[in-house]
Amino acid sequence: MSGFNDDLSRAMRELEAETGLTGRVGETVEVRPATDDEQREALERELGRDVTVCAECLRASCWHGEFMCERSRDANVRTLTVRQLRSLNLEHPDNYSRERVAEVHGSEPE
Ligand SMILES: [Zn+2]
Repeated sequence: MSGFNDDLSRAMRELEAETGLTGRVGETVEVRPATDDEQREALERELGRDVTVCAECLRASCWHGEFMCERSRDANVRTLTVRQLRSLNLEHPDNYSRERVAEVHGSEPE
């Protein structure tokens, strides 16, 4: 019976040595792709994001000062969601992307 115990303790030592190699273990970890629900949630969040635009022409690029409409001098600003801006389709979505807005405002206004 001692033979079995020897085999067992050797196997456990090997296992300890093996699990100590965390780098190798990490390489085998698979990153779970986002589920459809998670992708839909992310899209909903993005579509519901508020964007500040010129109240006259409803363009973020105008408010950002990249393109100034003729009434921008006296225009107020208003807030529209990404969903509204997309359906208005007045300018390229890049003009009010998260990155672009963060660049203009210095940080995200939320
Ligand atoms: Zn404007």
